[in-house]
Amino acid sequence: MIPYGLQQIDSSDIDAVISVLKSDFLTQGPAVDSFENAISDYCGARYTVSTSSATAALHLACLSLDVGPGDLVWTSAITFVASANCALYCSAEVDFVDIDPNTYNICTKALEEKLLIARRQNKLPKVLVVVHFAGLPADLEKIWALSKEYGFKVIEDASHAIGSSYQSNITGCCKYSDITVFSFHPVKIVTTGEGGAAMTNDYLVYKRLRELRSHGVTRDAQDFDAIEESEIWNYQQILLGFNYRLTDIQAALGTSQLKRIDNFLKKREYISSVYDRSLKNLPLTVQFRNSDRKSSHHLYVVRVHQAIHKNLYNCLRESGVGVNLHYIPVYLHPYYKKLGFGIGYCPEAENYFKEALSLPLHVNLTDDQQEYIVEVLSRHLK
Ligand SMILES: *Cc1c(COP(=O)(O)O)cnc(C)c1O
Repeated sequence: MIPYGLQQIDSSDIDAVISVLKSDFLTQGPAVDSFENAISDYCGARYTVSTSSATAALHLACLSLDVGPGDLVWTSAITFVASANCALYCSAEVDFVDIDPNTYNICTKALEEKLLIARRQNKLPKVLVVVHFAGLPADLEKIWALSKEYGFKVIEDASHAIGSSYQSNITGCCKYSDITVFSFHPVKIVTTGEGGAAMTNDYLVYKRLRELRSHGVTRDAQDFDAIEESEIWNYQQILLGFNYRLTDIQAALGTSQLKRIDNFLKKREYISSVYDRSLKNLPLTVQFRNSDRKSSHHLYVVRVHQAIHKNLYNCLRESGVGVNLHYIPVYLHPYYKKLGFGIGYCPEAENYFKEALSLPLHVNLTDDQQEYIVEVLSRHLK
């Protein structure tokens, strides 16, 4: 089976990991600092906090923006479940905004309409989690303007989107958000095995993210609670935090991978352009990519007629083409249905769900494999 995503590990990655294994620190050592600095340098964010996953980073991001019981968090209906679960971890409520039928990103018109209603009902969100679907940045400038008008914070879930840019701003710089999150899962653009990061330009948010990542314990004497002088050692727990740390083993892999990101992005762009050309005359539609932004081409999604969707999925997989569905609308999962959501809530998301398939797209994909995928797809669509 040709997988839809696959990491590329070379000998420099392996050497980087081995050198950490031979060093004094397996975790909480210098490789983590180097990786965080490399990410900040790459995307121009002032601060980067690495984490054990993007899911952990999203959780910490919500907590750092004071999301808690009674608060509302909104996100796009078409995303990985983690973009919504982070709100539930904080005992907040989650709600969904429909997608744009062409870009598959959050629809800013639907967002604006929902905000107007929410203001009347006094139920405005505290945070919006914006997903850059398939690596294509959402309408950040518009969303940021709405966030100022309606008073909510913005977290970019850029799990698909390291290396993408919006206008001339590289994703992660947080020009139009409070926090941006990356994922380093093996199917994503660069990998640490498991891993994630949260970027911000706000020093207080940064400090909060760091404290929460490691048990809520601080070693910064300025933050110590003023208990009896004789009771003060060099650390205190001041918040209820977690162990969401990235290890030095993972960080070394990440730094090594990041050195090749330009090649990874070029290869993904090349594969996408071959699909664009080869599929042009077939009865399917592909993601519209706005001209003022650059995608990192995490996914290549095609939409086909609803009547053949399921059958095509099965046929392609039987032919060894590892297509996937990204994603089921989050609110249609059984867990979310039990919270009261149901069919018809976001019509565009549901149409998308009945038509979408992700074709294999990763840096190891060969021309021959891609030709085969196109041939099998063409055969079934004609
Ligand atoms: C992969 C992904 C996540 C979760 O990433 P992990 O690092 O696996 O926790 C979150 N959001 C989106 C949109 C993703 O694609």
